[in-house]
Amino acid sequence: MKIDAIDLFYLSMPVVTTAGDGSQDALLVRARAGRFTGWGECEASPLTSIAAFICPMSHGACQPVSNSVLSQPLNDVADITRIAQHVREKSTDLLQAAHIFSGIEAALWDLLGQRLQAPVWSLLGYTTNYAKRPYASVLFKDTADDTFATAAALRQQGFTAVKFGWGNFGRGSLGQDEQQVEAARSGLGSDSLLMVDAGQAFGTDIDSATRLPMLAAHNVYWLEEPFISDAYEAYRQLAHKNVGISLAGGEASHTCNQAVHLMNLGGVKFIQVDCGRIGGVAPAFEVAQQANSRGITFVNHTFTSHLALSTSLQPYAGLADHGLCEYPTSLQPLALAITDNHLLPDCNGEIHLPDTPGLGMKVALEKLREYLLNIEISVSGKILYTTPVLSS
Ligand SMILES: [Mg+2]
Repeated sequence: MKIDAIDLFYLSMPVVTTAGDGSQDALLVRARAGRFTGWGECEASPLTSIAAFICPMSHGACQPVSNSVLSQPLNDVADITRIAQHVREKSTDLLQAAHIFSGIEAALWDLLGQRLQAPVWSLLGYTTNYAKRPYASVLFKDTADDTFATAAALRQQGFTAVKFGWGNFGRGSLGQDEQQVEAARSGLGSDSLLMVDAGQAFGTDIDSATRLPMLAAHNVYWLEEPFISDAYEAYRQLAHKNVGISLAGGEASHTCNQAVHLMNLGGVKFIQVDCGRIGGVAPAFEVAQQANSRGITFVNHTFTSHLALSTSLQPYAGLADHGLCEYPTSLQPLALAITDNHLLPDCNGEIHLPDTPGLGMKVALEKLREYLLNIEISVSGKILYTTPVLSS
């Protein structure tokens, strides 16, 4: 079969704020080949990503991603590898190419899974789909009291691992940060895993290391993204201070090599990959294999729908020793509406990927129409893109 169509849907909440909440809008991808349909999601700016798919060619290494995907054969996993190689070669100078291709690539895996009647994790070569322990992933609240209440509520819901991030952390004084971390720890209790995500607050400033003993004193399991994503030297220096807390990062990687650099040069102990940014499932799988061979723990990154959550778990589904998974618990209604089914914790509090074909998620077309934005992009009167009809 060949790829007949790639359709892109820009979905948005009515109001989008500056909060570090990636579930406020979404770019959903539908891939069609013959009688099969696959769905994927980009973790990216929707409109610029649409542009990367349909933009006029600037030169041979700056072609729209559509040139590498449409009408290509899709019969096995090797075809996805070949298409990804075409995107790299033809869209090298198109920075948004990785983001748009991430959702397309996931949709191709989903579609191939439908055709071959196999879950994606099985197509990747895994024979077992191990349960993961979800950590609730939430933003720091504006006040320490509210952070305490959020932590206590999550514990009440049964979560034994929680990550707080972004908000004002790292953007005020050490004392203010400590109040927040103290509140989180206090709300969770001493026996839960607590992680802190600085959301790149420190840029490249390794003096932020002054916060590490404070985090260690509250038994924080990892400090995530203290620096901008490619500040490998800053990561390395902070990692080598060895003050009893490990570093995590990698969600901003838009190539496999960036994540590998963060492991090899940056000294992170936890490598976090978002399939909706790095180019899809295959590069995330490669990072997971390399992490496994280096004794580094692979963790998914996701802060959007359960379609994205399922995608993010496939690359390490078969790695028993990599047992944590990011699990967003405060998604916007749009993100929850994207799928009819959701990956809910079982009676042991663990998450399981579906054994059904592809990504195992059913896109909820009816519920999404209220979030769909109608877009038309034209150049000199020639229409390059109009919002497609949202149907199965
Ligand atoms: Mg993060």
